[in-house]
Amino acid sequence: MTAAAAERTARPCPECGARMPVDARFTVWCAACEWNVDPVRAAEGEPPGLLERRRRELARRHGERLLREVADGVPLKARRDVASVLAQVLAVLVHGVTVTLVVLGAWCLVAGWGTPLPVLGLLLLCVAWPLRPRFGEAPDDVPLLRRDDAPALFALVDEVAEAAGTRGVDLIAVDDEFNASVCAYGLRGHRLLTIGLPLWEVLTPPQRTALLGHELGHFANGDTRHGRLTWTAEQSLEAWWYFLAPTPRPDAWTVVAVNVITFLPWLLVQGLRLLLDQLTLRAGQRGEYLADRVSAEVGGREGAIGVIDRHLVADSVLTALARERNRTALRTSRAAGAPDPADGLWDRLVAHVGSVPEHEFDRLRRAGTRRGHTVDATHPPTHLRRHCLTLGPAGPARIVVDTAREARIADELADARRKVARRVLGARY
Ligand SMILES: [Zn+2]
Ligand SMILES: [Zn+2]
Repeated sequence: MTAAAAERTARPCPECGARMPVDARFTVWCAACEWNVDPVRAAEGEPPGLLERRRRELARRHGERLLREVADGVPLKARRDVASVLAQVLAVLVHGVTVTLVVLGAWCLVAGWGTPLPVLGLLLLCVAWPLRPRFGEAPDDVPLLRRDDAPALFALVDEVAEAAGTRGVDLIAVDDEFNASVCAYGLRGHRLLTIGLPLWEVLTPPQRTALLGHELGHFANGDTRHGRLTWTAEQSLEAWWYFLAPTPRPDAWTVVAVNVITFLPWLLVQGLRLLLDQLTLRAGQRGEYLADRVSAEVGGREGAIGVIDRHLVADSVLTALARERNRTALRTSRAAGAPDPADGLWDRLVAHVGSVPEHEFDRLRRAGTRRGHTVDATHPPTHLRRHCLTLGPAGPARIVVDTAREARIADELADARRKVARRVLGARY
């Protein structure tokens, strides 16, 4: 809608009388007094569980404190505070218990040969097996790109990595999430970058570079390395928690007795899980702000802020994709020669996001600030990240992708785009 058309369909705010533009597709709200800025909050479905709420609350508190430090001129640097060192120690102790079980089990097997001890040894080894640290594997259910499949994309990732002060990735996965992420997998710590096409497609080229900057920034800051140790420990604790969980409806005295014996260890494990979670939270917040800093360095401040703003329309993007999927499912059969609905899905999505007026982005930003919107429970609230970026240096982007390079990258992603589009649409047509 043009500004003139919007003015023609404006109406006065019931609270303060200011003019509010009316666009039938979006919420009518007042920018002057914020009347109706967040009408769906009350109808928002299930509130998150206790642990999740506590996490968000802590994320907000740590996020605000870090932001105050940055605003006071304290340089944002990667440093491990006492809490994150304690988290590493706790993680080593958790794995230490597993190692002890293995050593003890092996000793019982070998030294106790000819006695009943090997039975105990086997039991200990059986308990230790599910507690072992698991290093993850490359995904096998989404399109994967290796260096030879996508030389231009890998070259861009390498360039971003070099600017961030780290090395590139070994594998790129392309999936249908409105997200991007990095992780290490396998015993040797191969690097995986996952690009969610619904997000990637609605970003401009500088925003894509900024997005890569944020993700590679996590490698540069050591978040993935430190995260790996605590993450594997979390998994071991989860296995303990599962072993020791009380039987829900004990029907025999023996079961009751088992519940009584395991109750205290179960509580202890639950406590350790909470503790580990809290200890890693603050370093996680710092890591996100630092990754945003790298994002702004390589893709420019506007690019980095643009990525954060795009997250505000995540719900709208997912709704648009769900609508496409429903439309495809309703079509009983596709006539021969009719266009494949997967063709052009991403272009339609880009057009949809492009049609969201600035007035609506403004509303989403303000509603996000009120709610404490976060990308997920581990990220600082979105409005704090945005604010932190505006306090950082405003230098130009270090990496600029020209149209020829952009086209080469799009070419390399073409096959993944088609596959993921078909997957989004249910791929049954
Ligand atoms: Zn008003
Ligand atoms: Zn991040």
